[in-house]
Amino acid sequence: MKVVIATSNQGKLKEFETLLAPLNWQFYSLQDLGINSPIEDGATFYENALIKAKHAATISGYPAIADDSGLCVDSLNGAPGIKSARYAGENSSDADNNLKLLKSLENETQRNAAFVACLVFFDPNSDEDPLSAEGRLEGEIARDSQGKDGFGYDPIFYISEESKTLAELGKDYKNKNSHRAKATKILLNKLLKEK
Ligand code: IMP
Repeated sequence: MKVVIATSNQGKLKEFETLLAPLNWQFYSLQDLGINSPIEDGATFYENALIKAKHAATISGYPAIADDSGLCVDSLNGAPGIKSARYAGENSSDADNNLKLLKSLENETQRNAAFVACLVFFDPNSDEDPLSAEGRLEGEIARDSQGKDGFGYDPIFYISEESKTLAELGKDYKNKNSHRAKATKILLNKLLKEK
């Protein structure tokens, strides 16, 4: 079966292809099919993932898998959440976003946070409801930036059991334990059951 992975991020594409390999499907990226990303104006990770999956599936005619993810900080009532990529403003860099978050928590001792990822599988040729899965990675927001690997908030996301930030722990740790990896494994099991 031909399936679109609705991301233009090559890193994510590789990660999904590896984790979803047991399905033996042929995966295409948005770039492969010349499809642009839609406007993500949903109110939740699920709504945004569904918008992306439906957009790619409707244009291509193939089933699509899309994800939406972000960082939710307890003491900020779940912010930055769906606004994680642009927390410090439109076109803000990872460094800008990290700096803004560290400043927002300057006087805060409660620093619990979680990365959340929601994945949706939408088949335009089926009447079934879309399949979805959520994965979480719990941690804390560090006092300052540590480590060089990864992207986004990885340098300030501290895993206390490892005494390291995600940017220090690197790719192998993330491929096994990340919110995206967990959500992908849950979705994979659902898809294998339906196959
Ligand atoms: P999206 O799912 O690509 O839209 O991700 C939204 C934003 O959430 C990213 O731009 C990052 O700021 C943040 N984010 C999501 N996943 C991760 C992660 O694994 N590490 C660090 N930041 C992440």
